[in-house]
Amino acid sequence: MGLFLLIDMDYFFAACEELRHHEYKDKALVVGTSSSENKEKGVVQTCNYIARQYGIHSAMSISDALKLNPNLTYLASDEAYYEQISHKLEHLIRSRNLRMEVMSIDEIAIETNNDNYAEALALAESIKEEINSNLGLPCTIGVSSAIVYAKMVCDAYKPNKIGVVRREDLVNFIKDKEVKAIIGVGDKTTKRLSEMGIETIGQLAKSNPANLIAKFGKFGGELSLISRGEMVDRIHPDQKKISISRERTIDQSLGIDGIEMVMKRLTEEVIAEVKENNMSFGSVSAKVKYIDFSYSMRTKKLSVPTDSLDVAYRYSIELLKALMKDNKVRKVGVRVSELKENSNQMRL
Ligand SMILES: [Mg+2]
Repeated sequence: MGLFLLIDMDYFFAACEELRHHEYKDKALVVGTSSSENKEKGVVQTCNYIARQYGIHSAMSISDALKLNPNLTYLASDEAYYEQISHKLEHLIRSRNLRMEVMSIDEIAIETNNDNYAEALALAESIKEEINSNLGLPCTIGVSSAIVYAKMVCDAYKPNKIGVVRREDLVNFIKDKEVKAIIGVGDKTTKRLSEMGIETIGQLAKSNPANLIAKFGKFGGELSLISRGEMVDRIHPDQKKISISRERTIDQSLGIDGIEMVMKRLTEEVIAEVKENNMSFGSVSAKVKYIDFSYSMRTKKLSVPTDSLDVAYRYSIELLKALMKDNKVRKVGVRVSELKENSNQMRL
């Protein structure tokens, strides 16, 4: 069984801005969703640690942030620039030929080949050093037995650190954390768990898995596993072979059904192209960009390559639902990869 490293860039958007505006490094810096002229209408996406000292945090309205510090430096989000740096980061890690998955614009997960914590720590140190010297950006790396725990380690150690929590210390490490520390648990799930009297991960561990499954389906079973420190992950290396993808911006008036319709149409377009090229795909990914400009992507690897539209539908919608959870989305996308050319008909 392997171990997992989660590389999580620290205050990513603001750190990217500090990179090209050294003059803001010693000031309270906020990156937000609105243009500079209309900044009061916007929301904080990321802020640097100086801004945090004033109590400013992401998702706060800019007008509230300005009340806490009227002198803060405000910059409108420049998504294209952050994505450029994100791609550089991905390229840097990918060149090491590790089993890895891009989790979001500023997070990459890595699976090691064995259970050796000392080796995993050495790897984390080497990666952190490389990111710092090549990109000039701070990051935190969490090391644990599954991605969900590595993320909690990052949150506990931030900023600019490496944290390791071993399997045997996991239950103790997570038990007092709030349920929302779990990736995928948003406001809605937190509220529903709270109605069941569950506030902490420790309480989640003590509740009957059958009840959780009855209430949350498959995700309930996963929550139970996570809470007991028993979650197991596997990263499917996407080897960056050719892929076919489509993405589209979502009209904010669309409900969940409407968003699913958009996803279905994108999936049809992708599969039409797969068939035109007489190919099969080995994995399906869904990508969601949220209203705060962050994004997430998840991939489902198929046991057998196929060109089936039904299979593509099933997983693109399933992954989309998992990614949307409680969050408002701005853009959705689908990608099929591990493409192979279909062999010609057998000759007798
Ligand atoms: Mg981050």
